[in-house]
Amino acid sequence: MVRISSQPQLVPLTNTSLTGFLKLSDDSEYFLSVDYSCYPPNVTFGDELRSEFIKYPTKLTKLVDQSKTLESFVENLVSFLEDILVQPTDSKHLLALINQVANLPSESVKSIDQDFKQIVLKHTDEGDREHHLAIQLDSQPPTYVCDLPQQLQIDNENTWSCQAVLKSFREVISQYQALWDVLDDIDSNCWVIEPEPFSRGAVHRRIVLKEDVSLIVTLDPSQPTSLPRCRFLGSAKSIQPFQNLLDERVDDWDPALGVVENLGSILDLELLSKPTGGENAISIDCGVCYCYDMMGQIPEISCNNETCKQLFHVECLVEWFRGLPNVRQSFGTVFGECPYCSKAMHVQAVL
Ligand SMILES: [Zn+2]
Ligand SMILES: [Zn+2]
Repeated sequence: MVRISSQPQLVPLTNTSLTGFLKLSDDSEYFLSVDYSCYPPNVTFGDELRSEFIKYPTKLTKLVDQSKTLESFVENLVSFLEDILVQPTDSKHLLALINQVANLPSESVKSIDQDFKQIVLKHTDEGDREHHLAIQLDSQPPTYVCDLPQQLQIDNENTWSCQAVLKSFREVISQYQALWDVLDDIDSNCWVIEPEPFSRGAVHRRIVLKEDVSLIVTLDPSQPTSLPRCRFLGSAKSIQPFQNLLDERVDDWDPALGVVENLGSILDLELLSKPTGGENAISIDCGVCYCYDMMGQIPEISCNNETCKQLFHVECLVEWFRGLPNVRQSFGTVFGECPYCSKAMHVQAVL
């Protein structure tokens, strides 16, 4: 009797004949009866397979010619049917993915793009900070984009699932709560000019100490309140006093206190908070658009008020003036007020 181990539902009748159901990898089943004792063999399909074979009129003869034994005939038949009947792996994968996403908590999904190439997950941490993770699904294995101090370690093998990715994402985030608490404290109490743009992945901050001196502090994520790496930026003359104070008092650093508090007492200064006007530390940027380079133009108009001296792009200032209720224009010149100190200013309008 011929029994085919991969097809337990095909029952052997004799050494050369079988009847029963053929099972494919997607669990679909089809009636089949074969008597391989004669040539051509006697093959009977159920309705479904019969209508499939109508589309491939010479296929059955070819399969028979390729197959010397009944076993190899069943094998070749299965592989042909897998090709034409079982969904391609890609779309199976996609279906599985859609199912997974449907099962994610809705508050964890920020967006899914239309063709399902990218899904963005989100998580709000204990400090009410929102984090995003973009999963690129069109690469195999998927790739991840997120703004964290470390790469996301995801097992991309058999166990890959959106749920597992979300879980690791949350786990990584939970490790950095203390670090972000300290960085948030710095951000809200100091004049921070870097990282620009803002990044949760950065473990450093560049802080303005005075007009011409800034300090880069780089924190140790595992001990964020311990003495950070400190680097002063500015002219040698202006940073020397700060460097001296730090060297002298480095042992006074108290990890029980915040970084802001420690820096303030060691450097003997009230740390500056960010000016509400949004101007830059070394203010070479335009006071309207906050940029330096605007399509090749640099900020060249300066406010004449000695205590202001804010710079602007010509076009930005003209735009700003035109939005004022009391703007005046005379020939090519537009008159208005400095957006920062309100002192009268004028600028040649660009036509
Ligand atoms: Zn500008
Ligand atoms: Zn001004």
